[in-house]
Amino acid sequence: MSAQTQHIPASSPLTCDVAVIGAGPAGSAAAIHAARAGYEVLLVDAASFPRDKTCGDGLTPRAMHQLDQLGITVNPGYRNLGLKLHGYGGYVTAPWPSTYPCAEGSALPRHDFDNLVFETAVAAGATPLLGAPATNPQLAGNRVESFQVGEQTVLPRWVIVADGVRSTFGKQLGRTWHRGEVYGIAARSYCDSPFADEPWMHSHVELKNNDGTVQPGYGWIFPLGAESGQVNLGCGALSTDKRPAKINTKKLLEHYAEQQRADWQLGPTQAVTSALLPMGGAVSHVAGDNWMLIGDAAACVNPLNGEGIDYGLETARSAVEMLGPKDFTLAWPDRLRADYGEAFVLARTAARLLTYPQFLPVVGPVGLRGPVGRALMPAAARLMGNLVTEQDRDLIARAWRLAGHTISSARRGSPLWDAA
Ligand SMILES: Cc1cc2nc3c(=O)[nH]c(=O)nc-3n(C[C@H](O)[C@H](O)[C@H](O)COP(=O)(O)OP(=O)(O)OC[C@H]3O[C@@H](n4cnc5c(N)ncnc54)[C@H](O)[C@@H]3O)c2cc1C
Repeated sequence: MSAQTQHIPASSPLTCDVAVIGAGPAGSAAAIHAARAGYEVLLVDAASFPRDKTCGDGLTPRAMHQLDQLGITVNPGYRNLGLKLHGYGGYVTAPWPSTYPCAEGSALPRHDFDNLVFETAVAAGATPLLGAPATNPQLAGNRVESFQVGEQTVLPRWVIVADGVRSTFGKQLGRTWHRGEVYGIAARSYCDSPFADEPWMHSHVELKNNDGTVQPGYGWIFPLGAESGQVNLGCGALSTDKRPAKINTKKLLEHYAEQQRADWQLGPTQAVTSALLPMGGAVSHVAGDNWMLIGDAAACVNPLNGEGIDYGLETARSAVEMLGPKDFTLAWPDRLRADYGEAFVLARTAARLLTYPQFLPVVGPVGLRGPVGRALMPAAARLMGNLVTEQDRDLIARAWRLAGHTISSARRGSPLWDAA
């Protein structure tokens, strides 16, 4: 059977152990874990593969570690060593921590990356059903009994919903996104550059327009390796309903590209697209008796750096571990809170500070210039990336955990995968 097409008579309902809705990195990884655990898996996507996805294409060590466990090798000719943060007349270099099980990152355009994970799911035994969205879930209480893919009726035992930021299927199950919490708006492009093998991910936290006025937002350049000869160049801003980021991300991206053109010898921007990012678990109603939301659908994106591929891969694994007779309604949000609650609430709180226009101009120069910044920022960047392991015993790591604990107690009541 081809990975792209499947002809099933619409008259006979399809049964499966696990229906995975959405074949992005989260859904395809869930399909791999479930198929390898011996379940019969149906992998549904509204699109056909390969398909594009608006992203910075950066893979942190968290993502690389999950990919190792899935046996997937990504872009073997290119590895990056960490982050370089620029702004306010200085920069700091923050290598990936050596304490994490994987100390390297990489990058690959999502067109190719997602197809690689999807093809691995099909090779593991998942049956693909592509080209039409899953709709119309029929519920008995809080249990999904069936849903439709076009004319096709599907009768699943369990449903893992990985349908991304807009979560159209999740919404039909009651998933609600809380835009009062911080979310991201961002745009990406591809540019040719002779420095595509540069081994650092670059981020510029101070963006100025032509007359020197600081713009809200940040820019990134993530090299994609010498073989591609390109970098992913993008920009984004953090926003809340109360303090919406008043920027045109595509315009800002062109401006940023212009500023970086000489240093990186950039070609013209190509394939410019923009998208929203829900973040930090700011959604409610993420599970029912036999269904769970994972990845972007569950807002599993780090509010401080916008990474979500790693959390998509991780939540895929946790969701499959949970499959069994247990009702997921409370167990799944409990698991998400145990794994990410403290880190996400703290990051969301810090990200909220960044939506105040006065904040970065005051703190940025301290962090990015001079001895204090050089001493603290690499550790801060490591902590921002939630790359603290149990072996991490240094002072800042302990302070982060303590702060996370304090803030989660203080902010009880703010939405974090709440039941309703
Ligand atoms: C501009 C930008 C830059 C980013 N940069 C980075 C980065 O550098 N590194 C990083 O780690 N993260 C980054 N992210 C976040 C990252 O893109 C997401 O966290 C990641 O794509 C989440 O994967 P997912 O599988 O949950 O969702 P997706 O990748 O969005 O996949 C969802 C899938 O569901 C399908 N679908 C939707 N509705 C239905 C339906 N009803 N039925 C069937 N199928 C459906 C879609 O077709 C899609 O294939 C960035 C995001 C943005 C917007």
